[in-house]
Amino acid sequence: MPKPNLSLRSRNYRRRPCPHCGHSSYRDRRARRSLHDLGAPLTGRPRDIVVLYSQHYCTRCRKYFNANMADLAEPGSHYTRRGVDTAVRLVVEDGLPYRTAGWTLWRDHRVFVPYATIQNWVEAGGEKGGASRPHHSSRLGPGRLLGLHRGRRAV
Ligand SMILES: [Zn+2]
Repeated sequence: MPKPNLSLRSRNYRRRPCPHCGHSSYRDRRARRSLHDLGAPLTGRPRDIVVLYSQHYCTRCRKYFNANMADLAEPGSHYTRRGVDTAVRLVVEDGLPYRTAGWTLWRDHRVFVPYATIQNWVEAGGEKGGASRPHHSSRLGPGRLLGLHRGRRAV
């Protein structure tokens, strides 16, 4: 498997408002996560995005939260949102079986996704226009989930 191209994204802030109460919360630490993105078929290399992000502590709620990176990926996902969107579209709009969608993603975008993962994404709510939304509800609504964690997460 060819080495992926890496690109960096920063979601690293000194202070962020708490998603629960709005309290301005200082950065507690920095962390990073890797996301598989759509690669370039011309070079044949996969593409990974490394997100450097800040974790904040709200002294009012006594909770940790991550800087918002919902534009890039769902919380806990190993794939970018546009990778998920593309996979879901292949199944929902183009009507491809999961295995064929997985194969197409590899052929056209150099991203490897197990077909069971694609199935999970589709079943999690791949209706037209929006990819998998998390099931848990949020006071901010599903479009503005902020990558919350219940506690401190070891990275
Ligand atoms: Zn708070």
